[in-house]
Amino acid sequence: MSDLRDLYQEVILDHNKAPRNFHRLEGANRTAEGHNPLCGDQVRVYVLLADDRIGNIAFQGSGCAISKASASLMTASVKGKTRAEAEALFHAFHKMVTGEGGAAFDAGGLGKLAAFSGVREFPIRVKCATLPWHTLRAALEGRQEPVSTE
Ligand code: ZN
Repeated sequence: MSDLRDLYQEVILDHNKAPRNFHRLEGANRTAEGHNPLCGDQVRVYVLLADDRIGNIAFQGSGCAISKASASLMTASVKGKTRAEAEALFHAFHKMVTGEGGAAFDAGGLGKLAAFSGVREFPIRVKCATLPWHTLRAALEGRQEPVSTE
């Protein structure tokens, strides 16, 4: 298991160092902002929603390695997916990092997002990992006020 853990760690470090889709998205028709006051993470998510599908997605922001890597992996994971598919992924991810519903989670279905499975052992980091997802949800729902994890 420790090899697997190192691999996951590597994924998170890589996405923190070189975040994917880390820019402002011109032409985005959905956007939302999220804050995690507990850690100081801030993120803005940009979405180009077309025919109920996430045609393109990007983010900007600053924060800890977990929040940045989570936003990076999230954008890579949901690009091209329908809203329903993105929502299902959010629920699976949330279940994994909070540990709710027991230890079992669908690691296969989560792909690289499984890198965050260790987060459940650090409850204070759960909000860092889920912030980008809550923000994406707000963007898709067209909510105006910034999201806060508090
Ligand atoms: Zn954080």
